[in-house]
Amino acid sequence: MRSQRTEASIQSMLECVFNKLKDWSVIWGYTLLPRTLNIEFIPAEDPDLGKCHFASNTVFLNASLLQSGKESLLLETLCHEAAHWMAFRRHGLGIESHGPEWEAYMRKAGFEPRAHYHDQ
Ligand SMILES: [Zn+2]
Repeated sequence: MRSQRTEASIQSMLECVFNKLKDWSVIWGYTLLPRTLNIEFIPAEDPDLGKCHFASNTVFLNASLLQSGKESLLLETLCHEAAHWMAFRRHGLGIESHGPEWEAYMRKAGFEPRAHYHDQ
């Protein structure tokens, strides 16, 4: 059964997500990150949980992550994609997507780096 959220609970969840992004931007040494990175949602039917589009400074998150019970996966997916953006920004687009540069950003933010779902 799919649980529905009220608009108010989605709003407070998005605030929490945005505060986490601020925390990571401090840890990652790029406090402009929350003002630079756009966060957009893609339809739940999309096969990807998240995508990072470096050229437009945009992270796309699957709308299914807004369902209740998905809070930690939403945060991990946002961190995963934001870490891609940071790694590309610092090291260029020639690096491996889930290579050591990306892993370092995930670890600094407190996540075990794992690329278990399809993205990019
Ligand atoms: Zn990835």
